[in-house]
Amino acid sequence: MSRIAVFPGSFDPITIGHYDIVQRALPLFDKIIVAIGQNSNKKYLFSLEQRLDFLDRLWENEPKVERNAYKGLTTDFCKTENANYLLRGIRSAADFEYEKTIAQLNKDLNPDIETVFFMSAPQYSHISSTIVREILLNNGKAHRFLPAKIHELMVV
Ligand code: ADP
Repeated sequence: MSRIAVFPGSFDPITIGHYDIVQRALPLFDKIIVAIGQNSNKKYLFSLEQRLDFLDRLWENEPKVERNAYKGLTTDFCKTENANYLLRGIRSAADFEYEKTIAQLNKDLNPDIETVFFMSAPQYSHISSTIVREILLNNGKAHRFLPAKIHELMVV
């Protein structure tokens, strides 16, 4: 059975912290699906099409990484993709508390799915999509927080 992981998130936009988590997790899995969860109550800076395009470009040379978007429960999406693992990142104690609740809830919803956590690299633990959006909206320099390819896409 192949080891398929779903990395769910908003990725508005994908940051260097997210990218690092996927790259470090790659040796553990046969396939990682970076999946954009759509929440109709949330307002996004980047459209779904833009965010999917970022993911396409970022991993265009990595056949083990796919991308997708979904609505509804993450565990239902995992089922449709035959994924038995969820991938998440932890930056802080606040992340830990939040992630623990979500992981336990998901385990309750589908006991076959295991959440695998990666600790943020120390140099990325202060980086979030929220901070990057704030910098971009105020014409600040966001290049150190974004994968180089994504930054290039934003400036052209
Ligand atoms: P969500 O909207 O579910 O919080 P995000 O796109 O913000 O989605 O994040 C997806 C996952 O990536 C979460 O597990 C989050 O903790 C993790 N993550 C976000 N930023 C970083 C970072 N800088 N380093 C490590 N993990 C991160």
